[in-house]
Amino acid sequence: MQSYREREIACLAPYAMFSADSAGREHGEEEHTYRGPFQRDRDRILHSAAFRRLSGKTQVFTGSMGDYHRTRLTHTMEVSSIARTLGRALRLNEDLIEAMALLHDIGHPPFGHAGEDALQECLRDEGGFSHNQFALTLVRELEHPYPRFPGLNLTREVLEGQIGRALKLTRPQTPLLEAQVVDIADSITYDAHDVDDAVKLTLLTIDQLKDIALVADCLRRVEDRSGPLEGKILRRALVHELIDYQVGNVVDTTIGRIREKNFTSAQQARLSELTVTTDKAMHQGKKELESFLYEHVYRHPQIVRGRHRAQSQLRSMFSFYCEHEGQLPSKFHSRIKPIGIRRTVADYLAGMTDQFFLQQYQRHNAA
Ligand code: MG
Repeated sequence: MQSYREREIACLAPYAMFSADSAGREHGEEEHTYRGPFQRDRDRILHSAAFRRLSGKTQVFTGSMGDYHRTRLTHTMEVSSIARTLGRALRLNEDLIEAMALLHDIGHPPFGHAGEDALQECLRDEGGFSHNQFALTLVRELEHPYPRFPGLNLTREVLEGQIGRALKLTRPQTPLLEAQVVDIADSITYDAHDVDDAVKLTLLTIDQLKDIALVADCLRRVEDRSGPLEGKILRRALVHELIDYQVGNVVDTTIGRIREKNFTSAQQARLSELTVTTDKAMHQGKKELESFLYEHVYRHPQIVRGRHRAQSQLRSMFSFYCEHEGQLPSKFHSRIKPIGIRRTVADYLAGMTDQFFLQQYQRHNAA
């Protein structure tokens, strides 16, 4: 049997994060016979309750708008797939990438960014609420699958990737290349699937998108390859091209930068502040597409209406639980003293799926 160490030596580039160099876990554990530490982290995240709940959480479009569009879970699976494609092309550690990708949105409250903004406002005087930070609370405190300690006891590298997301601009060092791959895969993924979902839901037409240089480039590439297309075949071809074109650009740009440097370790790549990125023109194109989506999709009257409704329901449930501590599940009671009732309530609400939240809302409002 080939050990995971031998496999990594055979497949990974010297600048990848090798399992053998991991800084380990907070609580010491014996090594697994044939699964590497990042592979085990991937499995721990995949088997967590918080991960399963992603299937009931809004990405952008809510359940009442149909069943074609992405949920937070299918978004996460797409991010993981694109990130692994990038990782394999760049010869990085795919197990680490997959673990970080599956983890990246686990802390999202119900109703997507609308939910996060509402909780942020509720906790304004207590340091605010961030889904990136809450992901850490989930995997370090609230998940409890092992008898010896709370949390999933993930490796420091996977936790550090998530801490970097939570700190964003104030993070102390350049993230590992594997963490950067997940970040860029996330943005490639949502840009492409939000176009797909918005066109499918008729919030947008492909005609409206044609003035965006990146979309125009992709449409030209599709037509060169397949001739003139229309309707849903064109929509799907455009979405595939948006992904493939950007992924190809990240691989070419990043490999070019890596070749100039000749790194012999992950640490060296990190100290050189190497970034995994697109070239300048693609970066500009992505920004243009994102501001278009912001204006025409995320601020679409249909989305804004749902957003306001969800936020007022969240605010009302927040006040309800703050005034009725006894209604919280017992596992949250012991948290009130150390972290305060307001943070405890926000954590409870943030862990809910859209549907479970609405059931609680109806139950307490009918009472
Ligand atoms: Mg995401």
